[in-house]
Amino acid sequence: MTLKYYESFESNNKITGQQVGYYFICKTKLWLSAHKINMELESDNVLVGKQLHENSYKREKEYLIDNIINVDFIKKRDNIEVHEIKKTPKMEKSHEYQLLYYMYYLEHEKDIENVVGFIDYPKIRKKVKLELDDDKRREIESIINEIATIINSDIPKPQKSKICSKCAYFELCWI
Ligand code: SF4
Repeated sequence: MTLKYYESFESNNKITGQQVGYYFICKTKLWLSAHKINMELESDNVLVGKQLHENSYKREKEYLIDNIINVDFIKKRDNIEVHEIKKTPKMEKSHEYQLLYYMYYLEHEKDIENVVGFIDYPKIRKKVKLELDDDKRREIESIINEIATIINSDIPKPQKSKICSKCAYFELCWI
């Protein structure tokens, strides 16, 4: 099975891991980022994430795969372990599905079997293990289709939420 491509927006693009994360955070953010209106480099959260990686997992290498998924680090044990490092579990659902998508991508696009995922929260010494079963595979496929629909439609109306004040797009949405 191949991943759903954007049909009318940009025919060579695939859904990225970041877009799957944004789908659970804010549909406006997802649309803006997919349309290359990208201000996330200025965000403190991104810088904090990079520092976390450097401080807690200095020896681990990041993997950018096909410019589609950006895995914090990979370990080969009995299974292939895919790790994502996060600061807090506040956006756990977004973290969870982003990582499930990485696992799905490796399985479907790279024919890698027995992938398990871990979300690492080094600041609170928490680790969440994820496995990709058939229900999750179907869910990921349905999310991919919904993301493609959002991206190919008009920009979704911003919905104010607790995260807006820390979002890189705050001024664009609300000022
Ligand atoms: S400011 Fe709020 S509504 Fe706008 S993109 Fe960010 S999270 Fe979404």
